[in-house]
Amino acid sequence: MTLKKYKVKRDFKQTPEPLSSLKKEAKNLNFCIQKHAARNLHYDFRLEFRGILLSWAVPKGPSLDPNDKRLAIHVEDHPLDYQYFEGVIPKGNYGAGTVEIWDHGYYTTPNSDKEQEIEKEISIGMKKGHLAIILHGEKLNGEFILQKLKKNEPDDHSWLLIKKGDDNSQKKMSI
Ligand code: MN
Repeated sequence: MTLKKYKVKRDFKQTPEPLSSLKKEAKNLNFCIQKHAARNLHYDFRLEFRGILLSWAVPKGPSLDPNDKRLAIHVEDHPLDYQYFEGVIPKGNYGAGTVEIWDHGYYTTPNSDKEQEIEKEISIGMKKGHLAIILHGEKLNGEFILQKLKKNEPDDHSWLLIKKGDDNSQKKMSI
């Protein structure tokens, strides 16, 4: 886990985005979703993991319908502070546009609510290309799956974000 890619892409004299991670205070492992009106509107889905934020850009945003498979592009790790960032990244900078916090909360897994166990599961899941997480947010709750699309292609960054059927899922009416 490193923030090298994150730092290389940005000029911190110009962007108000955070440079590093402050000391962690929260007890839980947080997640956040930021609505990012960049050149293409997308939702950045971030999971706290071992002092950084694992990050995916979800063009269509999350869905509560288990039939929807939302493309989620795995992007560079972000500093922990980024979960609180809202503001405008100035024109000409990487990701220029407005960032708003769309949802925020903490996450667990179907197997554990203990930080160390969760991080171990996430570590294994990232290698396998399959994560099962339970979100405890203001908007989103319940189990979601993040599934790497092409398991045998490590350089491909496409994943799918899928709601698992549970009390929090909502199937859309089909006509
Ligand atoms: Mn973004």
